[in-house]
Amino acid sequence: MKSPSQTNAIDFDSAKLQRLGFGQQPPLLERPVSLAQLRQALGLQLQTSLEPQRILGLFFREIQRIVPLDALNYEHQPSDLRLQFGARGHHSISYSLSHEGEQLGELVFRRNQRFSEEEQGNLESLLSTLLFPMRNALLYRAATQSALRDPLTDTGNRIAMDQTLEREIEMSRRHSQPLSLLMLDIDHFKHINDTYGHSAGDEVLKAVAASIKNQLRNVDMVFRFGGEEFLILLSNTSREAAAMIGERLRFAAQAQDYEAEGKMIELTVSIGCSTLLPGESAESLLRRADSALYVAKREGRNRLAMAG
Ligand code: GH3
Ligand code: MG
Ligand code: MG
Repeated sequence: MKSPSQTNAIDFDSAKLQRLGFGQQPPLLERPVSLAQLRQALGLQLQTSLEPQRILGLFFREIQRIVPLDALNYEHQPSDLRLQFGARGHHSISYSLSHEGEQLGELVFRRNQRFSEEEQGNLESLLSTLLFPMRNALLYRAATQSALRDPLTDTGNRIAMDQTLEREIEMSRRHSQPLSLLMLDIDHFKHINDTYGHSAGDEVLKAVAASIKNQLRNVDMVFRFGGEEFLILLSNTSREAAAMIGERLRFAAQAQDYEAEGKMIELTVSIGCSTLLPGESAESLLRRADSALYVAKREGRNRLAMAG
């Protein structure tokens, strides 16, 4: 007879997790700790997240058991990440984190009171606990960010668009603010590909994306929706304001110089515009922008049409 299959499950119940330092909000220990104890506790705690914000937040809170601080600033330029904890402080010590030549960001500890030599030594010793958690968090951030971008045009991809649109609809409802959407499609783009080749077409696509981004304050709201279609989300923007922005994008795309095989290419775009209705779904808002775009195409292209 076969013995029943066995499942080996390790039950990390919350009490055990707490003891190991994996709790959601581990309480600040009142009693003083030694540097070695704190380093060990941080070593465990900082592994519990892949979010830079959470890792540094924990670090900022916990190290104060040994070195009281007023603020901690963090900056990692390559990934355009800036975080701030606490308020201000007259005195500061800065450290540049790096591992095997890889830049992991700049940290500035701030305090109104001077740092003693011993405190500085403690900070340096505690900093080493940040190294691998921050490196992992930055790698994770880079991976998730690139999964959300279209590499050719450096705009958001469909996944990013779906996420952002849902979030913006929710925000629009919560704050009772209008939300508008522009769907922009290049006119007769197939002709450009057919005449000058696919890679010339790619260059034109990049240039159109750049011209759109140039016109907008918030470039995070531009998405590549299809082959030669872009979607622009306009938060807190009414129907009338969206129409004006749409026209501005249309003029800018037309005014831009496009070149292929040393020749200038004439290019226009058509745009459909919709504004969120009460209780409307993302699908419906997109569908109405798409129908408006279809109207703009049918009425002769190089124009903007408003959804009904
Ligand atoms: P319309 O004015 O009606 O929009 O005409 P159109 O030619 O722009 O539209 P159509 O949908 O017929 O063709 C779109 C073309 O876009 C076809 C496709 O080969 C091309 N395309 C889609 N993605 C890419 C891309 O990444 N690079 C290049 N070069 N071309 C692409
Ligand atoms: Mg199209
Ligand atoms: Mg087209």
